[in-house]
Amino acid sequence: MNGSRPAGTTPGDQADVLIIGAGAAGLSAASMLSANGLRVIVLEARDRIGGRVFTYRDQSYSYVPVNGVEAQLVLSRPVKDTLFFAGEATDTEGHVGTVHGALASGKRAAGEILRSWQDSAKEG
Ligand SMILES: Cc1cc2nc3c(=O)[nH]c(=O)nc-3n(C[C@H](O)[C@H](O)[C@H](O)COP(=O)(O)OP(=O)(O)OC[C@H]3O[C@@H](n4cnc5c(N)ncnc54)[C@H](O)[C@@H]3O)c2cc1C
Repeated sequence: MNGSRPAGTTPGDQADVLIIGAGAAGLSAASMLSANGLRVIVLEARDRIGGRVFTYRDQSYSYVPVNGVEAQLVLSRPVKDTLFFAGEATDTEGHVGTVHGALASGKRAAGEILRSWQDSAKEG
């Protein structure tokens, strides 16, 4: 074994977009991108989808939000039109820490990906 893969077997060959994480944000982005004709693969580390959307019957929860809209803007900024970020912590509309924020961030990231995709198609 020399570690090389047969042609056509890497995720990059099979999908236009790789999404890391099948939480609300990742699934929201996947839904919008596939509805717009892109081939999407969602990679999830757990043996279930949903992320923090999960029935939990013990105590309550708390979390430490990343403070300030500026931090969320920085977290949501794409890298080189290749790496895009979603997730409740990247929501800039006041819904950090919620499913609403996660879903909205997935749609925002999907919109960024679609714009980038269309721009590169125009450039040939
Ligand atoms: C106990 C509890 C109660 C809550 N109650 C409410 C509520 O009442 N109302 C509300 O709006 N919100 C509530 N929330 C918050 C809400 O669940 C989260 O804001 C939202 O689900 C976050 O979604 P997300 O997609 O941003 O992140 P996540 O749900 O965390 O999804 C991230 C996914 O990525 C996967 N992942 C991470 N790293 C990798 C990797 N390297 N490779 C592959 N997969 C990876 C994770 O396994 C996970 O599935 C609650 C949260 C908790 C914990």
